[in-house]
Amino acid sequence: MSTQTRQYAGHLASGPPHDVIDPSDGSSIESIAASTEADCADAVSIAAEAFPAFAALAPRVRGEMLRKAYELMTAESESLARLVSRENGKILADARAEIGYAAEFFRWFSEEAVRVSGDFRLAPSGDKTIVVTHEPVGVSLLITPWNFPAAMATRKIGPALAAGCTVVLKPAMETPLTALAIVDLLARAGVPAGVVTVVTPVAPGPAVSRMLGDRRVRNLSFTGSTEVGRMLLKQASDRVLRTSMELGGNAPFIVLDDADLDDAVAGAILAKLRNGGAACTAANRFYVSRSIADEFSRRLTERMSALRMGPGLNDGVELGASVSIRERDKIADLVDASVSHGARVLTGGTRPEGAGAFYPATVLTLEADNPILGEEVFGPVAPVVAVDSDDEAIARANATEFGLISYVYSGDLGRAMSVARHLEAGMVAINKGVISDPAAPFGGYKQSGLGREGGFAGIHEFLESKYIGVTI
Ligand code: NAD
Repeated sequence: MSTQTRQYAGHLASGPPHDVIDPSDGSSIESIAASTEADCADAVSIAAEAFPAFAALAPRVRGEMLRKAYELMTAESESLARLVSRENGKILADARAEIGYAAEFFRWFSEEAVRVSGDFRLAPSGDKTIVVTHEPVGVSLLITPWNFPAAMATRKIGPALAAGCTVVLKPAMETPLTALAIVDLLARAGVPAGVVTVVTPVAPGPAVSRMLGDRRVRNLSFTGSTEVGRMLLKQASDRVLRTSMELGGNAPFIVLDDADLDDAVAGAILAKLRNGGAACTAANRFYVSRSIADEFSRRLTERMSALRMGPGLNDGVELGASVSIRERDKIADLVDASVSHGARVLTGGTRPEGAGAFYPATVLTLEADNPILGEEVFGPVAPVVAVDSDDEAIARANATEFGLISYVYSGDLGRAMSVARHLEAGMVAINKGVISDPAAPFGGYKQSGLGREGGFAGIHEFLESKYIGVTI
């Protein structure tokens, strides 16, 4: 049942109501207006009109807006976390961690806004001076997924605004309320009207195509599945549009025979269950030295089977709902298929009855040719495979088109570093279950994406470089 259709600052939407669903019980949280294709076209006009004045502001002024947004987000973190938990299904502890992480992107890029440096040097031939400056790329279309509705938005809005770009944000329709709350907060932080506009088209395809075809859009920053990213890259190629792509993952988690098993299991729980497994960084394939594989699986099963599952906002709950019944069923189908290919279920593995999109923590042991190892599961499922050498672990870890992040556990740092150097991944975590940090470059090799967000690289996804040759 819909509750109300409320108007939000910066939200351009004149279409029919769209119910945002609480996945833990299937009820409607709120009804928002959907954006029509014409609204999306208007959002580009608004961003294009706002761009010259915003780009001309002093970097310090833009930086201070982001700093204020960081402060507001921190002050309002509890209500934002509850909203994230409600519309996404994740447990409150994960939602609180996400809001902290999301706010840090505003703080980091408030600092980066005033640190963009150029280049000034004599050409080797001596005939001119090479001057390199950076300018905002222009109107940017930001498309975000449902799994981190706050952090994926701030990881793009922060650098875009720091660079001087104006943006149109298109959040996932499972979780638009968090995006609307963040844009409202940006307005209160002093970001001028028109700099950030949110659109909420129910069918994203035609609306996004129309915006990508508009010559005033100069940049696409997308986070989501590799499948959709690949399709958008094809469309972007028509206009040779600049793109940043943060796509799917299929992270290997390698445990070598000299690892501290308690640490490895604690790290595995973190890397697997943060966000209920719905993270592009989630450990998705566990390759464990054969001599310790049974003991690792036993301890992991003990921990996973004890987790309390339920609505994310309830006290004591350790595993929340998936974002929708559709997403939950994808997880269940992948597990069922793996079992029919010989996987052994140590815990979980059954789809619960009821209206909530729940799936239990599941541990599987299986052979290296099981098809589930080729899929991004996006749920609380840990497939464990025994391996006979470091080289086999590396080869199996790399045998995928994805290359976002890999995890390595070993008691010998030199050995772990040697494995890390051979892994085809944009990020490697050694003896840690989570390493995402706004101050570090986030992104993948191979079909996990193009470009980097966060760190020193993040702002450059929203800047053009201009070389001026002059004799001075
Ligand atoms: P998705 O690709 O289905 O959707 C992502 C966004 O694209 C949403 O806003 C969606 O509405 C939009 N979209 C969907 N179809 C579209 C179309 N035809 N044209 C234009 N836009 C379209 O992904 P999801 O299910 O929301 O999120 C999960 C995926 O995101 C996983 O694959 C995960 O690994 C990935 N992800 C990657 C990162 C990263 O940084 N690499 C971070 C988070 C999530």
